[in-house]
Amino acid sequence: MSCVSLFLYNRFSQKKEVFSPINPEKITMYVCGPTVYGPIHIGNGRSIVVFDALFRVLRYLFPEVVYVRNITDVDDKINAEAQKLGIPINELTKNTIAQFHQDINKLHVLPVSVEPKATCHISHMIEIIKKLLDKGVAYLSNGHVLFDVLKDPFYGSLSGAHKEEILAGARVEVAPYKRNPQDFVLWKPAIEDHEFWPSPWGNGRPGWHTECSAMSLEYLGTTFDIHGGGADLLFPHHENENAQTRNALGVEHPVKHWVHNGMLMVEGQKMSKSLGNVLLLKDVLAQFPGSVVRWALLSSHYRHTLDWNSSLLHQATQCMEHVNRVLELPWDGKHCLDADFLAYLCDDLNTPGALNALHLLAKRALQDQKWVSSVHTCANFLGIQKISSSLTLEISKEIEDLIKERTQAREEKNFQRADELRQKLEDFGIIIQDTPQGTLWHKKI
Ligand SMILES: [Zn+2]
Repeated sequence: MSCVSLFLYNRFSQKKEVFSPINPEKITMYVCGPTVYGPIHIGNGRSIVVFDALFRVLRYLFPEVVYVRNITDVDDKINAEAQKLGIPINELTKNTIAQFHQDINKLHVLPVSVEPKATCHISHMIEIIKKLLDKGVAYLSNGHVLFDVLKDPFYGSLSGAHKEEILAGARVEVAPYKRNPQDFVLWKPAIEDHEFWPSPWGNGRPGWHTECSAMSLEYLGTTFDIHGGGADLLFPHHENENAQTRNALGVEHPVKHWVHNGMLMVEGQKMSKSLGNVLLLKDVLAQFPGSVVRWALLSSHYRHTLDWNSSLLHQATQCMEHVNRVLELPWDGKHCLDADFLAYLCDDLNTPGALNALHLLAKRALQDQKWVSSVHTCANFLGIQKISSSLTLEISKEIEDLIKERTQAREEKNFQRADELRQKLEDFGIIIQDTPQGTLWHKKI
């Protein structure tokens, strides 16, 4: 184990704590993965990249890390999408998983230790539900098995959502088969044309929250070090998952550290289908190199909201330009991890600090080659890779002059000339964007 301490914010205590693992020889981490009904968006991509960065830090500090990230391949959204497309469910999930892997590979995300699928663990979910029924914290009603929230005095302890507030805020579905509206479904009866499995309570399918309890238990045991996911999963998903696991296993704290990444906004707005501003990761990656997208995703602290906009990408591109120039220089393979860079990462995964340190190192290395090893080592550490020559961000003097000329034309309100120059630049593969911060450009890829 490294002598450096890792500090990590714990949602349960709501404090930044020294990370003290259950077994320092083997760290255990579970992160909620995608529901595979369609390609992931840039917000999902943020969560994947944040926990990949944490995985990289843990791998450096400890001898072994078991990282489990599940795939939710049973869900109402999957059923609806398969029906809409007129294809079998397993064809939809298979294609979506392949697309997911393709997308995250382009972001240089490391393979996880285990990537279990929910449909392969139905029997484990049934075992957990049986235990909850035996302990009297779950009940059968109209073909459903439900968790009785009023039987759990610690319900709400993770998210801070109190039973009364949950009720008052109507954040739960009211249904006639529930004793109390805040009770949640562990098992639901089969619906015609939907996938189902046999169970002691008849044919049906599990509730969403049950799968993560079952898969974390299967691969990591009754207690594990870190549970991660997006902040939108805190309630009800993680609250319910925690309640199930605690009650089924009789363990007070199955998870030592609960870690959540903040949300991603697009141009100051929440991403939503109704606003039509959902940015799919594959579309972003068709426009920008993986290292630039990764840089942009890590350029804000993971617990903060990240606003995805053209100036963010512009800044990431400019920083990456310096780093890329150094990554193109030969490296003797000497490992030289910068102390400041590591210190930032160990301070609650301060990736903006670490990227800033890397950028400064790159600027130094362009002046003095003795820093080249540090840039290569730190970039490798965080999954920032060299952008291949066909995608280099350098622009020729001619293009630079055209951009300047266009900016001047706009300042002189000669919009016709500015438009002509925009078209000319586009012919060179340069896309121009006028923003309140000024004119930004990027290469069409
Ligand atoms: Zn989950």
